[in-house]
Amino acid sequence: MQKLSTIAESYQKVKNTLPDNVQLVAVSKTHPKEMIQEVYDLGQRVFGENKVQELIEKQPELPQDIQWHLIGHLQTNKVKYIAPFIDTIQSVDSEKILLEIDKQAEKNNRKIKVYLQVKIAEEDTKYGLEIHETKELYLDYLNGKFPNVIVSGLMGMATFTDDKNQVKKEFSFLKHLFDQLSLQQKLETLSMGMSDDYPLAIECGANSVRIGSAIFGNRNYL
Ligand SMILES: *Cc1c(COP(=O)(O)O)cnc(C)c1O
Repeated sequence: MQKLSTIAESYQKVKNTLPDNVQLVAVSKTHPKEMIQEVYDLGQRVFGENKVQELIEKQPELPQDIQWHLIGHLQTNKVKYIAPFIDTIQSVDSEKILLEIDKQAEKNNRKIKVYLQVKIAEEDTKYGLEIHETKELYLDYLNGKFPNVIVSGLMGMATFTDDKNQVKKEFSFLKHLFDQLSLQQKLETLSMGMSDDYPLAIECGANSVRIGSAIFGNRNYL
């Protein structure tokens, strides 16, 4: 765990490298609420978590104006736990999950913002929609199939590799899809880039980045 006194420095360092139009999602998974509160006190309002269980433990104990983003794979039976408060679900990777989010949003009398997660990496391990699935889902959305969600962006994770050309290729590919879909109806947010690759992601057109370890230090999974 990084010492509390250095979080402010890391946070400022990251903030200083981000253009004004790029949203920062501070990825706080595995880190205690005290560290989140410290970053909140520096002005950060958007935080990302990848597990429902962890998110619903932290959310009641932290300031209620935090905009929580879910960035990890979501199971249908867990949507109901986050539907009352979640700001954005970035990890929509199937029609089934989108239907459930739509249903739970209606039950809670609110609209839930989502991004479609697109599979751009070469690894088999990364969740995400295929390109044709993404296009179909967006069309269905535009045709009114999910009236209680707002599809406002795309999210992608590049292959975990040192090969910058490979990563650049994948980010550029997602930007191209983003522009293509935006011709039908404008998408607001292109979420790509993490601690190790966010400058490249921004170069390739990202306007939202998900940064954990560069702010909070290394994660301890014990
Ligand atoms: C953990 C995580 C991040 C942040 O990763 P860092 O390398 O710590 O910045 C970003 N996106 C997703 C989907 C994650 O699960």
